[in-house]
Amino acid sequence: MVKAVVGANWGDEGKGKITDMMAKDADIIVRFQGGANAGHTIVNDYGRFALHTLPSGVFYGHTTSVIGNGVALDIPKLFNEIKSIVDEGVPTPKILVSDRAQIVMPYHVLFDQYEEERLGKASFGSTKSGIAPFYSDKYAKIGFQVQELFDEETLKTKVQRVCETKNVLLEHLYHKPAINPDELLETLHEYRDMVAPYVADVGVFLNQALKDGKTILLEGQLGTLKDPDHGIYPMVTSSSTLAPYGCIGAGLPAQSIEQVVTVCKAYSSAVGAGAFVSEIFGDEADELRRRGGDKGEFGATTGRPRRVGWFDCVASKYGCRMQGTSDVAFTVLDVLGYLDEIPVCVGYEIDGEVTTEFPVTTKLEKAKPVFKTLPGWKCDIRGIRNYEDLPENCRNYVEFIEEQIGYPITMVSNGPGRDEIIYRKSNIK
Ligand code: GDP
Repeated sequence: MVKAVVGANWGDEGKGKITDMMAKDADIIVRFQGGANAGHTIVNDYGRFALHTLPSGVFYGHTTSVIGNGVALDIPKLFNEIKSIVDEGVPTPKILVSDRAQIVMPYHVLFDQYEEERLGKASFGSTKSGIAPFYSDKYAKIGFQVQELFDEETLKTKVQRVCETKNVLLEHLYHKPAINPDELLETLHEYRDMVAPYVADVGVFLNQALKDGKTILLEGQLGTLKDPDHGIYPMVTSSSTLAPYGCIGAGLPAQSIEQVVTVCKAYSSAVGAGAFVSEIFGDEADELRRRGGDKGEFGATTGRPRRVGWFDCVASKYGCRMQGTSDVAFTVLDVLGYLDEIPVCVGYEIDGEVTTEFPVTTKLEKAKPVFKTLPGWKCDIRGIRNYEDLPENCRNYVEFIEEQIGYPITMVSNGPGRDEIIYRKSNIK
């Protein structure tokens, strides 16, 4: 069976922890979109790790980790990430890289930087990992698939052709040094040798695994609101963050996903620019940022302070709907134990009218949050394993949010560790 773990919001919801936890009972974990621009933080028996390219299942000996065709594959980063976990004592993971995955080229990273510089104040707040130029080239059909590394003639001709267009932009738009095609070809030979041991026809592998009754976990990056179609365009990422895309980005049949676990954090956080209706500022925000996650709300890849805010029912209801949610994993609830009362965003006021439907970006920019304030529980809930043992106000918080978003919260996470999870029965179907 196939299960997906995806985010309802802007990312950083705690998908890494939930995937790591669910990977225990899975055979194969697949990354199906995105690149090394975001990261998961995972705390387990080996230590604390920030993964950017590797699937979160790499810490288990029994799993195979797959980089699907939908991923923006940065080969040196993959190579270094494997090395960094092995150096920490993690057994060498079994990894397969799709022969149809495309490669983040050194010039994608440069173009990402140059374009952000050129845009100045209007920049997207990119992590400058080359993701937007990578996906632009993929859809402009001038990207490089992994399989092309192994066909020298095709590679050589394409490198020449692509350098011609890239160099026009470098010279005339960005006023930067041109790419030398021979040097680029040399680099691609190095990439070929790094990736060669892992390359496979992942579609065949996964479809066989399905037939053999294996459990496959699709691991999403970022969340619904960063989806290029359904998110807060243009402040989005460049590949679909939605569970259905998991089939495309891995090479699985459309009907194969049986469970979609959508991860929602008990408060909101976002990196980069873009509308964030329930955002808070000042001391209130500093405190939540400092206490958030397992080491504060700072980007796993960039170290940038994340923007924080109260839980947003409007965004999360939409986020869950677009994912096709069967279960909500509600994470980082323990962090809110310091608050006397907790505001929850239950509606958006736009031009004098209140809505609970997530709007298009131009309207979103005008939205003001409508808050309802719930009482806090003022204690540490870490270590609790039964839902009934949570303080009443804490259960009320969970149940109020569940009712607002309309999807069943079946897991509550009260700590970063693998075992810090509370399963609950929900009345919502
Ligand atoms: P992801 O990209 O969705 O995997 O999210 P991140 O890894 O960027 O951010 C989630 C952060 O919260 C990480 O530092 C996790 O270790 C941490 N975390 C996950 N679940 C919990 C939880 O239930 N409680 C606490 N305190 N931290 C958590």
